[in-house]
Amino acid sequence: MRPLLEATANRAICYLEGLDARGVAPTAAALAALTLLDGPLPERPCDPHAVIALLDDVASPASVAMAGPRFFGFVIGGALPVTVAASWLATAWDQNSAIYRATPATAQIEATAMRWTLDVLGLPPQCGAAFVTGATVANFSALAAARHAVLERAGWNVEGDGLFGAPPITVIVSDEVHPSVTKALGMLGLGRSRVTHVPVDGQGRMRIDQFPALVGPTIVCTQVGNVNTGSADPIADIVDLASAADAWVHVDGAFGLWAAASPKYAHLTSGMESADSWATDAHKWLNVPYDSGLAIVRDPHALQAAMAITAAYLPTASSQRNPADFTPELSRRARGVEVWAALRQLGRAGVAELVERCCAHAARFATQLSAAGFEILNDVVLNQVLVAFGDSATTQRIIEAVQADGTCWAGITEWQGRTAMRISVSSWATTTADVDLSVMAIVRVARSA
Ligand SMILES: *Cc1c(COP(=O)(O)O)cnc(C)c1O
Repeated sequence: MRPLLEATANRAICYLEGLDARGVAPTAAALAALTLLDGPLPERPCDPHAVIALLDDVASPASVAMAGPRFFGFVIGGALPVTVAASWLATAWDQNSAIYRATPATAQIEATAMRWTLDVLGLPPQCGAAFVTGATVANFSALAAARHAVLERAGWNVEGDGLFGAPPITVIVSDEVHPSVTKALGMLGLGRSRVTHVPVDGQGRMRIDQFPALVGPTIVCTQVGNVNTGSADPIADIVDLASAADAWVHVDGAFGLWAAASPKYAHLTSGMESADSWATDAHKWLNVPYDSGLAIVRDPHALQAAMAITAAYLPTASSQRNPADFTPELSRRARGVEVWAALRQLGRAGVAELVERCCAHAARFATQLSAAGFEILNDVVLNQVLVAFGDSATTQRIIEAVQADGTCWAGITEWQGRTAMRISVSSWATTTADVDLSVMAIVRVARSA
């Protein structure tokens, strides 16, 4: 076992060390070689060293350098070395971290990671939380708690009796709602289309003057951190409206919630601490490995009512926190371990500094690309930058050429009728030199494409 695991750790380290020197996108040859991993199911066992060697030799070059310093696509984030190491260790432990009595160590670590997360984000300490796979499942879990609570207030037990015959729930979303919220609403029987849309302003923020009257059981889905602009809905005003109507306010803050960890950017999220539930990712701005997100609910009982399982062989009514009482999964890996490691290493100051560094890099991108004559389409308030190089076809052509060049990688988006390159700076690994190198590449490619 030792030679295999040591050799594999060494391969992984070499992979990470090599990211800076290779192109961000894989070459066509590397992708073509993936067929070597295909073929019929082997009939007989073979040497595990050969398995790992094949995987590393073929798949590592075919991977996208998302863990490297110059990947700016989607909203990704890297993985802090301490979190990669913690993940290796937790994988070796192989704990099925569902119930406290079975895995007290990881259950306790997750309870601490939850408490620290609430603290660093400025959320109420009595909140409950679930460590899930990402913001999609976090949105799903938090909205399941919302569904429970608004129907309970209307005298209906949705977990027991389902939605057939239940009092209708009004669901309010933004015109800029993230598709994962829409999907979560569909999975919860609340309907992908059966929602009321609120129009947004030029930065993608819900317009408070366009809100409908809130009557009856109501869930309002808001957003902190628009995937294009980085902007946040006016949560304080929305919470005021909603609390007058006893409506539930949910915040999708997959990456944007982490602005609250920085004294410099916390104003963007002001008022969000008064919401009822929040969804966020740890695999984006906290820079832990996939897959890791958190559903956070002000009233832990609402989340527990939606998620707890009962079975004869499972202990009931523990005074300790059973992780699986709050998650859609029963058997689960202890995702909170990497969150714990990130927060233990960075501390409050380190998280703030990580957020501020990424935002400073985004501002530098915007300043330099604008100085080079390109158009910045958004107010760069956080870590997101939208760049247009001219009309839609030109912008698209330049984005493809930048991706092929390989110095850096940024994706394409549509923003209020314009085609744009979307640059998201979310990785601990990105330095000022990486930003300058990337700007030079983008300008060079744009001028010759
Ligand atoms: C990324 C993102 C999601 C989805 O998160 P996953 O981790 O991919 O499930 C939801 N909402 C927003 C605003 C996001 O940026």
